[in-house]
Amino acid sequence: MTRMETDAVSRVKRPPRRKPARAGDLDGCPMHDLRRKLSAAGLRPTRQRLRLGWLLFGSGDRHVTAERLYDEALAARAPISLATVYNTLNQFSSAGLLREIAVDGAKTYFDTNLADHQHFLTEEAHLLVDLPRQLIDFSQLPELPEGMEIARVDVVVRLRRKPS
Ligand SMILES: [Zn+2]
Repeated sequence: MTRMETDAVSRVKRPPRRKPARAGDLDGCPMHDLRRKLSAAGLRPTRQRLRLGWLLFGSGDRHVTAERLYDEALAARAPISLATVYNTLNQFSSAGLLREIAVDGAKTYFDTNLADHQHFLTEEAHLLVDLPRQLIDFSQLPELPEGMEIARVDVVVRLRRKPS
């Protein structure tokens, strides 16, 4: 059923004295979708999770570090501690909403793109960027130990400026 048809049906069937729907009740509302996304992942949609989820999932695929997201939360005037940002990112990651990519041991990026893909890392700017799909072919993978299978192959291609 298209959106228009749904609207038409709901106009006909809705009792006239029903109180008007709040913005969060409307289908296709980003905040409503975010609540649903969190609930479906088994996470209670707390205010802080919604705030950070809004920054993370509100504008397409992205790669963020905890520090970067913390800065964005500050800029959005959301009073959230760096510790809460770390905890929330780890909860989202454990719940399967984010993919965690550890670079250099200490630096962890969180990727909203859950599809199998590879990355460029620019060493100067510490920017993680998705590689075009299947750029690197893994037909020569080593033989695996008995009873084991590949869960995932993480690839980070590090870029730096050529010496001039
Ligand atoms: Zn990515």
